[in-house]
Amino acid sequence: MNDTPEVFRFAPSPNGELHLGHAYSALVNHRMAREAGATFLLRIEDIDRARCTPAFERQIEEDLFFLGVDWDGPPRRQSEHFSDYAAALEALADEELIYPGFMSRGEIRAFAERHESEEGTPWPRDPDGAPVYPGLDRRLSTRERERKMRDGERFAWRLDMEKAMERVPALSWQESGESPDGDSGEITARPLAWGDVVLARLDMPTSYHLSVVVDDALQGVTDVVRGRDLFHATSVHRLLQALLGLPAPRYHHHALILGPDGRKLSKSLRDTSIRALREAGLGAEDIRRMVGLAGRLAPESFSRGRSARG
Ligand code: GLU
Repeated sequence: MNDTPEVFRFAPSPNGELHLGHAYSALVNHRMAREAGATFLLRIEDIDRARCTPAFERQIEEDLFFLGVDWDGPPRRQSEHFSDYAAALEALADEELIYPGFMSRGEIRAFAERHESEEGTPWPRDPDGAPVYPGLDRRLSTRERERKMRDGERFAWRLDMEKAMERVPALSWQESGESPDGDSGEITARPLAWGDVVLARLDMPTSYHLSVVVDDALQGVTDVVRGRDLFHATSVHRLLQALLGLPAPRYHHHALILGPDGRKLSKSLRDTSIRALREAGLGAEDIRRMVGLAGRLAPESFSRGRSARG
């Protein structure tokens, strides 16, 4: 018997409307939680204050209600907890594991292109396909760093990945879903592939990676169920958990719902948004069928959703 209370969470970002991919994720997540008799939390990941809105947040709650996905307790809104992420960043700063990186995205891309044309060898890409941070300013003297910061040069706090890796044992996680290559079971974490990831910016005092591990720990999350597009990010999450002394949840990365072009659905694809489908007269069961979950959930899970149709 497992005596740790099991806690699952669904963690959408209110920067657009939920689409069929989110519906699938929420339904699978909710079903796994309820079948396990676990707590199911809703977390609103709204650290990007420029793109997230209260209107999208309301829409998310309405869409989940329509789908028959209910959650326990009030949702945690990340924008109300910046001080928790600041404390974690501070702990990493105290360990001298972060440094200000002054290169912009454009400069990183230009650096990689220059390297490729001059050296004729590819510059490493992270698992999302972006060029890895060159880390030149990792070697700046404290004086030079302070001068740049004083002069108001823009920077992001980056994790010194190689130094961080020296502080932790070999890391892995328990995967009950699948990697993009079909691996499951015990997965070796490979955070080095990401290079010196951003943990905070001037205009966004935390990052997805940092806030997700802090919140999963603070909320006692035991089981993370999310799309396979976040599989590789788990390596960074395991590293941050180890550095910050936080427990590791179990992970389940599920398949993604792809668009007709075989690509991941995006929030700009209006025609697959739950709201558009509802407005076109579809019910929760239709949505379930569209994402391949028909008949696999107890019908009563959807009775609320169906009555909310309109
Ligand atoms: N907020 C992330 C998203 O909407 C999900 C984060 C997670 O489940 O770890 O893609």
